[in-house]
Amino acid sequence: LISVAIGGAGRRNSRLSLCRATHGTASSTDAGVLAGSGVPLPPPGSAATSPVWRSSSVVEKYAKMPFTRVTLEELLQMGETHDLVSSARFARDELPKRMARRVKALQNLPFIVGVNPHIKSIYDLYHDSLGALLALPEPVDGPSQAVFTEELRKLVGAHQEVIPVLAKGFKECGKYMTKDAKTMFLDNMIHARIGIRVIAEHHLSLATPSPAYIGVVNTRLSPAVLITSVANYVRDLCELNYGGVAPEFVVAGHTDTLIAYIGVHLEYIFMEILKNAMRATVEFSSRTGRIEHPPVEIVVCKSDEEVVIRVRDQGGGISQKDLGHIWDYSYTTVPKYDDDTDSIFDTQARMGMQAGSGGPMAGLGFGLPMSRIYAKYFQGSLEIRSIEGYGCDVFLRVPNILGSSHVIED
Ligand code: ADP
Ligand code: MG
Repeated sequence: LISVAIGGAGRRNSRLSLCRATHGTASSTDAGVLAGSGVPLPPPGSAATSPVWRSSSVVEKYAKMPFTRVTLEELLQMGETHDLVSSARFARDELPKRMARRVKALQNLPFIVGVNPHIKSIYDLYHDSLGALLALPEPVDGPSQAVFTEELRKLVGAHQEVIPVLAKGFKECGKYMTKDAKTMFLDNMIHARIGIRVIAEHHLSLATPSPAYIGVVNTRLSPAVLITSVANYVRDLCELNYGGVAPEFVVAGHTDTLIAYIGVHLEYIFMEILKNAMRATVEFSSRTGRIEHPPVEIVVCKSDEEVVIRVRDQGGGISQKDLGHIWDYSYTTVPKYDDDTDSIFDTQARMGMQAGSGGPMAGLGFGLPMSRIYAKYFQGSLEIRSIEGYGCDVFLRVPNILGSSHVIED
């Protein structure tokens, strides 16, 4: 029943299917088995009697269950009905399966990667969250729904920092995997995480409705307003990292355009693109002795099908040598702190930049590959054009997601 793809046809039908799918899948006995076994990766050849292996049977069970092919449109329809109990039941049914797959993917990492403290902490987080989810009461009425929702909110909060931690882990031990294996793991991990968060946050947003929102989707999102606020934030971050300097920015084009989109997704992409643009501008000025930082130029343009956002900087562009690598995870031109370079930054400043004092400006090498996954999740795109010695143009295409039959993928 769970695997049945829910067609876009009948609203009522799809809601019913979602409700029915919740029966008899997530059991609290399973939670008991998982609880307390916070030990992450089984050492190779460990006995089948260890708590890890016992918990693995629960992980296996849920990871094998096919996920429900719910579309964004169907999530929105659930939102319109404001039926919190069925929305909670859907989340309660769907999230353990998706979490269990992540736990399994982490278990399948090479041992030396899995025991890295950052990666291990992510494993523990997913493993324990799976246990916590399974331990939650079945939402059958208002009060049990409220308990579920509050606990889910805590879980979502606990997963806030997953990406930078994962990035730090892979920066340290990614070299023990082939590039392809690493890319596949991280693409899947990040892609699945987006799906998990969309489902969880959609339910949480339904529980705290606000005007113009249908669940997690802001139906009146202004790209110009959002990018302006992100650019102001990134300017502050830039000043913090580069001793009080940051380029100005301008926003032009169809600045009064409104779209329907998941705000945090756009915010994330804008943040990464602007950090790159401002960093490049300031560092290029410093390398070339340029006194004035040219502004970062942002254009928003709406057509019938999509909104295109172009971010143009005069940060010197990307060298041919780097161009083939910029979409690779962990690839960065920020020197390591122990590199003996003639970088304009002293060691302390570089450590600060990578440790993320005030949020990491650059150095993890996750900004571009992750932003592209976010952009492509709903069939948008992210591209860069570089003029070496001058600057870069970044093009972000954002499709209209209302009425989209796009499946919230694993
Ligand atoms: P990070 O910013 O942590 O280095 P990213 O994935 O965001 O990682 O970017 C990877 C690399 O791509 C950067 O280190 C930089 O060399 C290059 N890059 C990205 N955007 C620009 C830009 N606008 N101008 C110049 N170089 C850029
Ligand atoms: Mg970056």
